[in-house]
Amino acid sequence: MNPAPTGNKNMSKNRLLTHFSKIISIISILLFFCLPQIASLQTTSIEYICAGTDYETPVYILKTNYKEPTIMIISGTHGDEKAGIQATQYLKDNIKTEKGTLIIIPRANILACEKNVRNFPSDINLNRTYPGNPESNSVGKLAYEIFNLMKKYDVDLLIDLHESIEFYKRNPENYGQTLVIDSGDDYYLYSISSSIVEEMNKEIIEDSNKYQVLVDPVTGSTAYSAYYQLGIPALTFETCRKLPLSFRIDEHIKFLKIVLYKWNILPEEIISGD
Ligand SMILES: [Zn+2]
Repeated sequence: MNPAPTGNKNMSKNRLLTHFSKIISIISILLFFCLPQIASLQTTSIEYICAGTDYETPVYILKTNYKEPTIMIISGTHGDEKAGIQATQYLKDNIKTEKGTLIIIPRANILACEKNVRNFPSDINLNRTYPGNPESNSVGKLAYEIFNLMKKYDVDLLIDLHESIEFYKRNPENYGQTLVIDSGDDYYLYSISSSIVEEMNKEIIEDSNKYQVLVDPVTGSTAYSAYYQLGIPALTFETCRKLPLSFRIDEHIKFLKIVLYKWNILPEEIISGD
């Protein structure tokens, strides 16, 4: 009986285990550094709605390796509501999404945006035209194409950015500083809107500048059509144009970042940072 071979066997077994655990550690370290990069791999593509017409406007599609959720952000439905337009134009170039798909239409009614007017033509409000009609006037066709884009991309959430000439708290006919949803019976939508508003209000001191959740379904609006015709939760965010433009742009960006965090498209630390 010679005990040596068993001892050798045990030693080589131990060495093998040490090697194995070293390899596992190296792989873990590599994965730790590589995975966040893989997860945040983002590509941007552009398509156009109303292509070949005066209303041709770009749609930016920001994709990651994780398709879901898909969020559509629209601004420039009303061309003189600048804060949302500038916020989406900033975000499409600067945001680093971690998951999901973002579909951004910065200037929905591009002619109204270029002319700095609410509606173009002045007597047709895009936000009362949904779901649109391919056989109707140019704005009807525009609404129809945006509506179809929501269907095509199987959107999970619609965000429509607006601005108002007055604070809701001073005149309830205007919606400045509100987050509007289309149903008060939708517990999920109401509670998530309330928590977004709570977050937005944290750094606002002046009472009239604070946001509140409003329930106001308006037939023919982008949000109404998304919610009632396609079953897509929709949020309409409104700042008040009596506040400085730079503040309003920051507020739109902040609002979007909070929403994108809540839907797991952005990591939390991005909200406080740039
Ligand atoms: Zn508007």
